[in-house]
Amino acid sequence: MRAVVLGGGIAGLAAARRLESLLPDAEIVLFERDAHLGGKIQTEHVGGYVIEAAPDSFLSQKERGVGLCEELGLGAELVGRRPEYGRTFVRRGGTLHPLPAGLTGMIPTNLDALAASSLLSPEAQKRLAAEVDIPATPAGEDESIASFVSRRLGRETYEELVEPLMTGIFGGDGEQLSLRATFPALRTLELEYGSVIRGLLARAESTSASSHPPFLTLRGGMDTLVGTLVRKLEHTEIRTGTEVYAVRNRSDGGYALELDDDGRLDADAVVVAVPAVVTADLLADIDDDLAAAHAEIPYGSSVIVTLVYSETGVEHPLDGYGYVVPRSEGSDVLACTWTSRKWAGRAPDGMILMRVYAGRFGGPDVTTYSDTELLALAVSEVGLLGIDAEALLTRVQRWPSGMPQYVLGHPERLERIDAALEAHPGLSVAGAAYRGVGIPDCIRSGEEAAESVVRSLFAVLR
Ligand SMILES: Cc1cc2nc3c(=O)[nH]c(=O)nc-3n(C[C@H](O)[C@H](O)[C@H](O)COP(=O)(O)OP(=O)(O)OC[C@H]3O[C@@H](n4cnc5c(N)ncnc54)[C@H](O)[C@@H]3O)c2cc1C
Repeated sequence: MRAVVLGGGIAGLAAARRLESLLPDAEIVLFERDAHLGGKIQTEHVGGYVIEAAPDSFLSQKERGVGLCEELGLGAELVGRRPEYGRTFVRRGGTLHPLPAGLTGMIPTNLDALAASSLLSPEAQKRLAAEVDIPATPAGEDESIASFVSRRLGRETYEELVEPLMTGIFGGDGEQLSLRATFPALRTLELEYGSVIRGLLARAESTSASSHPPFLTLRGGMDTLVGTLVRKLEHTEIRTGTEVYAVRNRSDGGYALELDDDGRLDADAVVVAVPAVVTADLLADIDDDLAAAHAEIPYGSSVIVTLVYSETGVEHPLDGYGYVVPRSEGSDVLACTWTSRKWAGRAPDGMILMRVYAGRFGGPDVTTYSDTELLALAVSEVGLLGIDAEALLTRVQRWPSGMPQYVLGHPERLERIDAALEAHPGLSVAGAAYRGVGIPDCIRSGEEAAESVVRSLFAVLR
C-alpha cells in the first residue's frame, strides 16, 4: 500500500506522522513544492535574532498543539509570553489605549476594569452591561461576526475592541466572516445562558485553570516544531521541490498523481494538505463539486515587516506586547507586535525586535507593494512610538492568498466537501482552509485526514 501526502506544511506533516502509526507497513511519500518544509511556519535565526515569517505562537487551549509538542519531546521547550509586559494596546487616532483587563478571549467580562479603561465611551460601556438582559435570538441562520457582536455587545465594542482582536487572527472582515465557522462557541453561550457575558463567567468558574499560559511558542522559534516533527518521521519519503499538478482516478481503483517533472506516481490513499485554491485545481479531474467548493473559499493576503532598533532609539517604553489597529482607523496595518517584549530570547540585550502586520481582506492587496513601499508603511507606523532612528535590520515577508477566509456560507461549503469526499475512498483533505486556521487546528486536521483515508480504505477492502 502506498499513501501520499500533498503539502509539507504543518497539516501535511501531521498527516504523515499519523499515517506512519496507522500504516506501519505502507510506503508513505510526502510531496512539497518548495525547497523547505513547514509551509507558513518559517523562522530565521540571524545575529541573535529569532525572526518568525508568519506564526509566532499558538493557542494552548486547543489540544493538538501542546499534544503534538509533548509527543515530540518538546514539552520543556514550550514557553509563554513574558509576564512582565502583559498587556496589549489598541491604536485609535494616533493614541495607544490599553486593552482593559478581564477579557475572556475577545469579550470583556469585567465591567469594572472596562470602566477604568479609556477604550470605550460611557455609552458603549452601558450598552455592554445591558448584554445580560438582551434576549437570545432563536437558533437558525448563521450570521456574521460583526452582526452577532454588535447585536449582543453593541456596535462600538465591536468596532473598537472585538474587531481588531478578531482581525489579528483572520486578517478578515467581520462583516463577512461566518460566526458559525469562526467562533461557534459564542453562539452556543447565547443559546445556553441567554447571554454571552453570563455564559463566559459561568464557564470560567467551572473550568479548571490550564497548566499552560494561553499562548505558547517554542523557545528556539516555531521552526523547532517543524524540524523535530520531520526528524521523528520514521518511514516517510520526503520529496521537497516537487510540485504535484493533478490527482486523477485510476481505472483499477486508487489514484494517480501527476508531478512537475513529468513523473507519475500511483497511490492507494491521498491526503491533500495544500491551500484550497490549489486543491481545487488538483482535484478538478476527480470531482467537479469537490473542486468548485474549494475554489469558492476566498483567501486574504498579508505582509509581515520585521524591524530592529536599538532600545535607546525608541521613545515609547514599549510596556506591552504591542497593539492592534481597528479597521475603522482606515489603515492597511492590522497590528504592531513588540516581539522581543512578548517572547524572551528573540533579540540581543538592548535591542528591540518588532513586526508590523498589514493587509486587510477586502482592502488593497499589500503583497503587490514594493519592498520600499512596505518598509515605508512599517516605518511610518512605528513613528507613533517615537522612533526616528534607522532600522538596523529589516525583513519583508509577503503572504499572497495566505489566509483562508471563513465567510458566510463556509459551513455549507464544508458539508459539500465532506459529502463529495464520501464518493472517493482513500482521499481526504486537510489544512487551514477548513475548521480552524491556527496551528493546533491544522495539526488536528492533518491527523483526522490521515485517519479518514485509512478508515475509508479499510471499509472498501473489507
Ligand atoms: C501572516 C500569518 C501569521 C499567522 N500567525 C499565526 C499564529 O501566530 N498562530 C497560529 O496558530 N497560526 C497563525 N497563522 C496561521 C497558520 O500559520 C497557518 O494556518 C498554518 O500554518 C497553515 O498550515 P497548512 O499546513 O494548512 O498550510 P501551509 O503552511 O500553507 O502548507 C501548505 C504547503 O503545501 C505546499 N504546496 C502548495 N501547493 C503544492 C503542490 N501543488 N504540490 C506540493 N506542495 C504544494 C506549500 O508549498 C506549503 O508548504 C498565521 C498565518 C499567516 C499567513
